[in-house]
Amino acid sequence: MDAVHYHDTRGLDPSHPTFSEVVIKGIARGGGLYVPDSVPALALTDVVDLARLTYPERAARIFELCGVDLPAERISALMTHAFGDNFDHPEVAPVVQVSPEMHVLELWHGPTSAFKDMALQCMPHFFSEAIAVRRAAGEAVPDYLVLVATSGDTGKAALEGFADRESTRIAVFFPADGVSDIQRKQMVTQRGGNVAVFGVKGNFDDCQNAVKAAFNDPGFNTQLRDGTGVELSSANSINWGRLLPQIVYYASAYADLAANGALGPGEPLDVCVPTGNFGNILAAYYAKRMGVPLGRLVCASNENNVLADFIGSGVYDIAGREFVTTPSPSMDILISSNLERLLYELCRDPERVRGWMADLSATGIFRVDDDTFAALRELFVADYVSNDRSLYVINEVLDKSGYLLDPHSAVAWDVAERLRGDAPMLVVSTAHWAKFGADVYKALHRIPYDAPLPPGVSHLSGFDLLEAVERLVPGATIPKQLAELVGLPERFTKSVDGTREGIEGAILEWIDGSA
Ligand SMILES: *Cc1c(COP(=O)(O)O)cnc(C)c1O
Repeated sequence: MDAVHYHDTRGLDPSHPTFSEVVIKGIARGGGLYVPDSVPALALTDVVDLARLTYPERAARIFELCGVDLPAERISALMTHAFGDNFDHPEVAPVVQVSPEMHVLELWHGPTSAFKDMALQCMPHFFSEAIAVRRAAGEAVPDYLVLVATSGDTGKAALEGFADRESTRIAVFFPADGVSDIQRKQMVTQRGGNVAVFGVKGNFDDCQNAVKAAFNDPGFNTQLRDGTGVELSSANSINWGRLLPQIVYYASAYADLAANGALGPGEPLDVCVPTGNFGNILAAYYAKRMGVPLGRLVCASNENNVLADFIGSGVYDIAGREFVTTPSPSMDILISSNLERLLYELCRDPERVRGWMADLSATGIFRVDDDTFAALRELFVADYVSNDRSLYVINEVLDKSGYLLDPHSAVAWDVAERLRGDAPMLVVSTAHWAKFGADVYKALHRIPYDAPLPPGVSHLSGFDLLEAVERLVPGATIPKQLAELVGLPERFTKSVDGTREGIEGAILEWIDGSA
């Protein structure tokens, strides 16, 4: 298998890197995103035969077919670590039939109980490997410090993925008042000798802006490189190294459903994905292009429904839009970064993509041309779900099917029911209910999203609420890694100012102290 190279969506980066290089670089020079020069063409038997393999073997097969520039034995070895007993289900990403026509793909069996693990338990292995290979070839490659600003899920998943990985460190900054009990506890108890976690005074915007400012500060970058031999990197969801592992589970799910007879040979499977940054559903698009017989790609949004509107109209408009808080916070987004990749793939014209992105940053709006819109409509449909409706659906599905959804997955379920056609539907479930236990508690007690918890329970911690849900729902269990958190010591208690200086000071002090 020849190595596949990558080019960028804006046509500004001449470097033409391989997969390993793309994982380390993250974003292309000029601000574009890397996309592969070619994707493999899988025959139906290639897809269906995956059912005979374990999940790590399936992942290795897809990575090889996609031209990852490492020897097949190395890819296999890394996949064994990426998708092993760090997942609490032997199938890693099992498909569960919840009603006659609805199948649920569970992407939350990893260490942080949410879907980000599917990529972040995998990508850091390839990151360390890329550094090791280049060093073995005699290149002078620095260690990397991965900087993350998080509103919750990504930070913990990135910490778990990079903890004790060779040649890397990771520092995570979260808004001290902007994450749930459980999310905070998950982060400040993180194990690993190469990790640091800081609460930032202020909200998520302050936190993200301060981290971005540190990232883009040439003086700080030089100081780190010269003083400590460390280069900054980021692990955010526009890194292609996070996208490729997500293609695997769509092929895997199709193979499982074909193997157990739920799908006839080559019968299309519609998929409905709870969408924020457009990474997960974009992986479904690539899986379909590679030959996995997926039917319609259904994009489900919450009240921040900029994507559902875009897919309906061809106009992406954040100019007049307020950011809304929802019970599905991991989908609360206005600028959906991975959409740029889809736009590029639909028109294959970097000049047009550059124009749209320039319009977006200048005016908050862009409109795609008729051909691109037609191509989009051929592949995608979309709708959105209100806050109260998403909580209502949790209850309804539990009553009818005995299956407990988290609020993100409930958004997908509701849109899937509304837009279901003749094909079987795969609802993508992105978090374990316990990760968002407080809102699940509200759902089960029919408390509207905006209403406070009743006096008898308002003093309870997130963990107490989880236990209340566990008592209420037969068969519902809190994952071990969440249940254990209460007793773990808090390693990281420092909070810093939400400014560039605050972030830079914290990092320098940490690196000096642990050098
Ligand atoms: C990140 C996340 C999403 C959104 O996925 P995108 O790839 O950003 O579209 C949905 N649900 C959960 C629980 C997530 O963590």
